[in-house]
Amino acid sequence: MSEDFSSPDLPVPEELQGQVSITTLDKIYNWSRRSSVWPMMFGLACCAIEMICVAASRYDFSRFGMEVMRPSPRQSDLMIVSGTVTKKMIPQIVRLYNQMPEPKYVLAMGACASGGGPFKEGYNVVSGVDKFVPVDVYVPGCPPTPQALLHGLITLQEKIDKQSISSVHWYQKEASEPIPVPILGPDLIDPRDISKISGRTSPTSESESVAGS
Ligand code: SF4
Repeated sequence: MSEDFSSPDLPVPEELQGQVSITTLDKIYNWSRRSSVWPMMFGLACCAIEMICVAASRYDFSRFGMEVMRPSPRQSDLMIVSGTVTKKMIPQIVRLYNQMPEPKYVLAMGACASGGGPFKEGYNVVSGVDKFVPVDVYVPGCPPTPQALLHGLITLQEKIDKQSISSVHWYQKEASEPIPVPILGPDLIDPRDISKISGRTSPTSESESVAGS
């Protein structure tokens, strides 16, 4: 190390040479973000009870700088989707996700959030929150234990460690587009599909079929 410090390209005064360490911008940036991931304070079903346990004294995720659960998406870095995602709830989840500032992460906690769980194929439940928002970490279980969620949070930290400030999409020139909020009608409708849907069931053809009947 001292040889590097004495390099003419990197002049460091002799008295400082034992007190200077050199690292990369990525490492400092990732270390600061991974050590202060603030989760959003909301829960959807039984998995949320386990999430609450992780915040309590026995598991204590304040050890990871994550104890500041925020009641506002605008102050949150992490959305822990803890519970069954119903069709009625998904428009709110997407809206909250859009309101979170970047960098932002999503953790699907439990079988329901990851793929519908025991309610998969139910008329009122979506088969995984990843059909609507991008998920970074999946935690299996029904419910996952607090230890499993802790492992998921550590996995997220490891993922953050591997990111580079030069390649993450939120620092690129193009602004990120918000995800269109699904519309809940008789079923969920993606606003991007409205033109296709209205083409298929135009008011004229509907009124004709009513008149014909
Ligand atoms: S995965 Fe199991 S414990 Fe978690 S919300 Fe679904 S049914 Fe409840």
